[in-house]
Amino acid sequence: MSYDESPQPARRRFGRRHLTVAVAALVPTGLAGWLVWQGTGGSDGAGASAATAAGPAASASAPASPTDPGARGEAGDGGAGPAGPLAGKVVVIDPGHNPRNRDHTAEINKKVDIGTATKECDTTGTATKSDYAEAEFTLDVSRRLRTLLARQGATVTFTHDDDRPYGPCVDERARIGNKAKADAVVSVHADGSAPGNRGFHVILPALVKGGAADTAAIVGPSRELGERIVVDLRRETGSAPANYLGDGTGLDTRDDLGGLNLSTVPKVFVECGNMQDSADAALLSDAEWRQKAARGLAAGIRGFLEK
Ligand code: ZN
Repeated sequence: MSYDESPQPARRRFGRRHLTVAVAALVPTGLAGWLVWQGTGGSDGAGASAATAAGPAASASAPASPTDPGARGEAGDGGAGPAGPLAGKVVVIDPGHNPRNRDHTAEINKKVDIGTATKECDTTGTATKSDYAEAEFTLDVSRRLRTLLARQGATVTFTHDDDRPYGPCVDERARIGNKAKADAVVSVHADGSAPGNRGFHVILPALVKGGAADTAAIVGPSRELGERIVVDLRRETGSAPANYLGDGTGLDTRDDLGGLNLSTVPKVFVECGNMQDSADAALLSDAEWRQKAARGLAAGIRGFLEK
């Protein structure tokens, strides 16, 4: 609900209803494409969130409702629609944590099998000193990212969209990407490291094998995805790679994350900055910076998918 900082050209231009009548006369290329794409069921996470964000009345006007936050900004700014460069590509976005995890500690502390070990279902995530929660940050950046990718024709699925009481658990987050046969999965986070530790980093899956975990097939492509995201995130945000790990590469490799261990499709985690550092926290709390971060992520994903 708080995700509403961007202007809504589509809504202003067409009003809330009777969209189909106006379309033929006014439609810019990008919106036309988007409408076709919506009508053919290309939207899943986006469609689900329309009902949540805009209420039952708006969802009743689907498939042409321009109120979907995942589609805002489609009209009039050069969107490519279903014929875009990412047509046919499936991207799963995993907003880290869940704002309501803090009210469900018993559930999220239950252990799940991550192949190589057992681990908590999920965690609450961190927050800035002014209590901007990581789980709110991850949803906001993820929604912005969804808009950018959908505009380029990608099919975008969320692991959750603030539509669950808690979680999902890390093993389910991985399964959602696997089931979708995603071409790329990005898990969006912000770090909770010591003050003075600054910058972003991308976490890559280590080579692990055990139980349901076997990352042999995804280590290589996930690294490629991660390296592209580092370059594009740096360019779009102007932020530097982390100064506290990765030797300035912006890359870290881990074998203890269920979301990576259980993935069978290319996947990375992105820690966009350190919420415990006041300078980083100021950036992460700034909607303009978050839009830049989403642009960097989208560019990195696109580069990887078009390789
Ligand atoms: Zn996190």
